Amino acid sequence: MALIVHKYGGTSMGSTERIRNVAKRVAKWHRAGHQMVVVPSAMSGETNRLLGLAKELSPPKQTDELLRELDMLASTGEQVSVGLLAIALQAEGVPAVSFAGWQVPIHTNSAYTKARIESIEDRKVRAELEAGKVVIITGFQGVDDKGHITTLGRGGSDTSAVAVAAAMKAAECLIYTDVDGVYTTDPRVVPEARRLQTVSFEEMLEMASMGSKVLQIRSVEFAGKYKVPLRVLSSFTPWDIAIEEEAKSGTLITFEEDTQMEQAVVSGIAFNRDEAKISVLGVPDKPGIAYNILGAVADANIEVDVIIQNISKDGKTDFSFTVHRNDYARTVDLLKGKVLPSLGTDSIEGDTRICKVSIVGIGMRSHVGIASKMFRALSEEGINIQMISTSEIKTSVVIDEKYMELAVRALHRAFDLDQPTA
Ligand code: ASP
Ligand code: MG
Repeated sequence: MALIVHKYGGTSMGSTERIRNVAKRVAKWHRAGHQMVVVPSAMSGETNRLLGLAKELSPPKQTDELLRELDMLASTGEQVSVGLLAIALQAEGVPAVSFAGWQVPIHTNSAYTKARIESIEDRKVRAELEAGKVVIITGFQGVDDKGHITTLGRGGSDTSAVAVAAAMKAAECLIYTDVDGVYTTDPRVVPEARRLQTVSFEEMLEMASMGSKVLQIRSVEFAGKYKVPLRVLSSFTPWDIAIEEEAKSGTLITFEEDTQMEQAVVSGIAFNRDEAKISVLGVPDKPGIAYNILGAVADANIEVDVIIQNISKDGKTDFSFTVHRNDYARTVDLLKGKVLPSLGTDSIEGDTRICKVSIVGIGMRSHVGIASKMFRALSEEGINIQMISTSEIKTSVVIDEKYMELAVRALHRAFDLDQPTA
């Protein structure tokens, strides 16, 4: 018997029929003697629908007052879900009670539409669990110190669930979703992609930040910080499969100490098409150039990812970096306007048709030659590498977008990720 948190995504909550299925699954765990806390998302499509309505009526300017109302609105999707799930559980003969974020309360800061959880009070939830009830808590929302409802950013129910699990010191947090785990890469690109039985939370962090959208990245950060045992698994298995079997399915996010030695050096191939490259050409090679260019970009709240600077010829150098594609035009305008004239150049080039492909694995820490193996695999396919960046457990390359799928497939093969593990 343990305290377990289940999180159900929007697809799993997508209809009354599916909610009944969730209720039956939760009832099974409850009857097995576990204390159950359940955190659902809004029914699929609901958050988009609500925000769409707001868009029709919104004033042109985005003020804090407007963002507050967006949270007031968007948070209602989860309130519908918890009410329906509690009703479905009661119909199963299981005592259940639902709470909105402010009732728990889940305290957040006041950054409307992207609030951060600061603390969670567990007294009320514990009392209901002790009374034998299943406790259902809205995902995605909290309350700030003025009593206003806040939301945690899109996909935020994952973070709610992990935060609740951390606050309650749950034995495990199970994230039920519409995929059956974390894969070596996107199976839509590589049909041979395999489900990983375990992945370290650091690898998961890299993969999530690279656009592998199984979990909201903040939930992974939270799990790492508070060491919450986390499992991603399918909500589409029959609800009545044996708990022992269910508890082993999906992918377990582990902490490095727990991972076995025989783990593959590279665990997965991540990729994204969200970036654009900008090159400033012929800037003087002297102190302060990187600061001048990137400082202006940072001041405009634009995030920079990969950066390279060439060695100089004749005292001049080229400087390239990537930004999110949505920020591309704004960055170019910004540089052309103020920064470049002050550096004595007006030569700037850009490319939005790039992609970033990365190999990720904690085994890279203790193995040499991994990056060169990556570069060989790409060269054998005739793929030109435009930029490279590395971290302890990741090597990324920026290449022409049209080679993305080819690169991902080649790397998946080169690192033997097509092979089932022994
Ligand atoms: N309902 C919210 C969204 O669609 C939160 C979530 O589903 O995790 O983003
Ligand atoms: Mg989600």
